[in-house]
Amino acid sequence: MYFSPDAWWGAEAKPSEMLLIVRQFALASERKLKLFVAACREQIGQSVVEIDDLARRMGGMLTLARAWTDAHSEANSQPAILRDLFGDPWHPVIRADVYRQRQEDRQLDPRIQRVWRRLDWHIFPLDWLSDPVVGIARSIDEDGDFSILPILGDALQDAGCNDEMILRHCRQGQHHYRGCWLIDGILGLS
Ligand SMILES: [Zn+2]
Repeated sequence: MYFSPDAWWGAEAKPSEMLLIVRQFALASERKLKLFVAACREQIGQSVVEIDDLARRMGGMLTLARAWTDAHSEANSQPAILRDLFGDPWHPVIRADVYRQRQEDRQLDPRIQRVWRRLDWHIFPLDWLSDPVVGIARSIDEDGDFSILPILGDALQDAGCNDEMILRHCRQGQHHYRGCWLIDGILGLS
């Protein structure tokens, strides 16, 4: 154990520190950070269209995301958004083919490889990618209609999925955001 995940990711977690964790674990792609800022802005009724411009002016998407958490620390939905976008960073879900590709990627920083080896990866086998599973996930990604997630849970189970963390995420009825770790995991997005 390197430290307690609960303190960094549980109910009392600070969004700025959560961002550092996903950054350290190399899970914070530009796309994910942008979706985080977009979800935060949407919640307070701000336009999401100029995020790329803002990030460029501030020197990067991570800087923008961190500035956002500092400036809007009272917005207590930020941890929920981060948890939905990144799942549990100590137990990341990744598609088998994407995992292999990353492992083979010689460009990957050796330091990141060391961190990744210590994570408890949930490898999503390609057998679970049945037509209904991919179809429902794609439709959720396109329409943002997460109300059909329980149907995705049934389709996953029909395809042989028995991963409790994944099935629970389909059925627990919490709020989801564009970039939800489960939909991204199925579609191979990061
Ligand atoms: Zn979700």
